[in-house]
Amino acid sequence: MTELPDFVSIREVGPRDGLQNEEPIPTDAKVRLLDALSRTGVQRIEAVSFVHPKAIPQMADADEVWQRAAKAEGVRYSALVPNTRGAQRALAAGFTEIEVVVSASDTHNRRNVNRSTEESLDDIAELIDLLHGAGARAEVIVATSFGCPYEGDVDPQRVAGIVDRVVRDGADRVAFGDTTGMGTPRRVRELVTAVRDRNAHIPVLLHFHNTRGTALANLLTAMELGITEFDASVGGLGGCPYAPGASGNLATEEAVHMLHDMGIDTGIDLDALIEAAEAEAAAAVAEIDETERAALQTALGAGGTGRGAAGAMRGAAGQLKDLEKRQKSRATRAQRDALDRALVDLAGFYRDALTMALRAPVAPVHTDTAALAEAGAQKWDAEGALRRLEAVLECRAAIEANVKPRIAVEAMMLALWKG
Ligand code: ZN
Repeated sequence: MTELPDFVSIREVGPRDGLQNEEPIPTDAKVRLLDALSRTGVQRIEAVSFVHPKAIPQMADADEVWQRAAKAEGVRYSALVPNTRGAQRALAAGFTEIEVVVSASDTHNRRNVNRSTEESLDDIAELIDLLHGAGARAEVIVATSFGCPYEGDVDPQRVAGIVDRVVRDGADRVAFGDTTGMGTPRRVRELVTAVRDRNAHIPVLLHFHNTRGTALANLLTAMELGITEFDASVGGLGGCPYAPGASGNLATEEAVHMLHDMGIDTGIDLDALIEAAEAEAAAAVAEIDETERAALQTALGAGGTGRGAAGAMRGAAGQLKDLEKRQKSRATRAQRDALDRALVDLAGFYRDALTMALRAPVAPVHTDTAALAEAGAQKWDAEGALRRLEAVLECRAAIEANVKPRIAVEAMMLALWKG
């Protein structure tokens, strides 16, 4: 077995790369996420990007987010910029580590910035000079390094050639992005070898996407090749831009879990990181949660009699179906997990409503009967539903016992709708 490193440096990219590929969230939530991450022991965070707000509305408040964030000592923060204007904003905001991007694939680069790879490399040479002149360090991120959504395979020699060029132009570091999630251990090996053969000393960072489930295998392969710097995103924040619904960034907590278990230190406190992931998930689901909870509380508020409870049952059942639909359409792991939790909560409400309907001795008997008949007319078999909910609550126990939430929730949905 090849020798593995003792320490791996993770750059947390959730606040920038992650949020940039999600529905916009409030400034407050961004600041909270950044601050929570700063307390995890992570040494590097990609904080924001300075891009045109019309192009990327998710980062329109970058200046404010950065200004309000509690910068932690010992954390290196970086910003991504697309051009001179962005670089000037990042420098004015006080960043000293700045990333610029070019796509290895010509077609991808043209679609993004309407320039060929070569033309973008000319721009980058000027940007590097500008950044160095202001005392900042420049990292060049090479996107689509492992495959292009338009051209397919990307030749590792082409990527290595781009590295030659940016090293000549003064880049301090290079990063390779698996934009499409096409990376596999074979591709990682070929790319790292091609780059290292020609530029043995330039610091290299790898950015994997888990679109096809290969991110951790790629991480392990890269470590075997001596790479010790990786990007990861808390909660897997950031979907795949080319496959709606598919996962994008490697989840930081999954990478950290694997590394720590292998005796490889990251400096990161996994519990604090999971707390940050949960805070992020809560923010992502806050809006859904609020409206749906309110509707449900109202429905339950009418309870206390068989009729009210039966109404609440139907209300909760509707909410569950709706949430299930949304859960399927949500892209990120964090959002899915948050919805999983909301589903479990709703199942609890639903159980209470059902119990109330079955046990409502205070209400006149005929009311109960009427309510249950009404429920029956809606194809609700209350006794059967309660039995199925017992199965749901067993699933809840499984979730609490740390079984993979997706599996538990799928079992729960099965129990509810097909049971
Ligand atoms: Zn990414």
